[in-house]
Amino acid sequence: MALQINGVAIVTGAGSGIGKAVALAYAMEGARGVVMADLNIEAALQTAKESESVATNPIYKPLAVAVDVTDAESVDRMVAAAVEKFERIDYSVNSAGIGVKHHKPVDEADIPEMNAFWKVNVLGSLNCIKSVTKVMKSQSVTTLNSQGKTREVGRGVILNVGSCNSYIATPDIVPYTTTKHAVMGLTKSAALDLAPHGIRVNAICPGWVNTPMVTAAIDGNPDLPGMMKTVIPMSRIAEPEEVADVVLFMTSPRSSYVTGVGWIVDGGTTLQ
Ligand code: NAD
Repeated sequence: MALQINGVAIVTGAGSGIGKAVALAYAMEGARGVVMADLNIEAALQTAKESESVATNPIYKPLAVAVDVTDAESVDRMVAAAVEKFERIDYSVNSAGIGVKHHKPVDEADIPEMNAFWKVNVLGSLNCIKSVTKVMKSQSVTTLNSQGKTREVGRGVILNVGSCNSYIATPDIVPYTTTKHAVMGLTKSAALDLAPHGIRVNAICPGWVNTPMVTAAIDGNPDLPGMMKTVIPMSRIAEPEEVADVVLFMTSPRSSYVTGVGWIVDGGTTLQ
């Protein structure tokens, strides 16, 4: 089943890990444009360069943009640059995020650290939703022809990146678990408010994924790899491409009636 991805994507956090794999997957799957946005512009430029060698749409173009998702004006500039180059935004993936480096129990939770997590993991996604929604609401509705029928697909799709910690708690990572639960609340609220406008909003909720964020977490907690093996039923962490493939389906016309849900991609971790 072809995903029928042929529009324009914005991916935040596209310089590394899951965001990078998602940006490259859009290029591979046939997007006509991908905006790689990241705090680290050098990393975003690198993803943009790599995307050109894997893109399958003959008119494919990348655009690397520096953005700080915690700053609403910076996000508006990112969206304006995307519209100036590509004229519409079909898929918006909010993968910019921060993870825990030092584990602490709740009674030692650090308030400045909590605020920093809130600003990036929750307000960052909200800033992006607010800005892309202004563009998506004014766009024409796209359609999909399937099995001899034509169906309305909508004006755009937004995908937030939660975590299996959007559903469960694991010890000593209060800022992460709290903000990832909030990402699901934001996803459901946005899905409800934007459904009448033909905009779908969903979340992807991964378990451990092989990215620099997890490498940093292991540096701060050497017991983590052993613990991962015991709690993941599939006995391995995910590769970022395994998450990206689900993101592409969730934002493709093939999932045109799915909104307000979190799709857990965790090798069975939350089953027990
Ligand atoms: P990563 O550290 O590899 O990549 C995160 C990217 O976000 C980096 O390129 C960084 O520069 C960018 N970024 C950080 N703050 C930013 C800001 N203020 N503005 C713009 N860009 C910013 O991490 P990752 O593992 O790819 O994580 C991506 C998302 O996936 C995060 O939301 C994370 O919480 C989530 N997640 C990761 C895992 C995992 O195991 N890696 C599991 C579940 C959820």
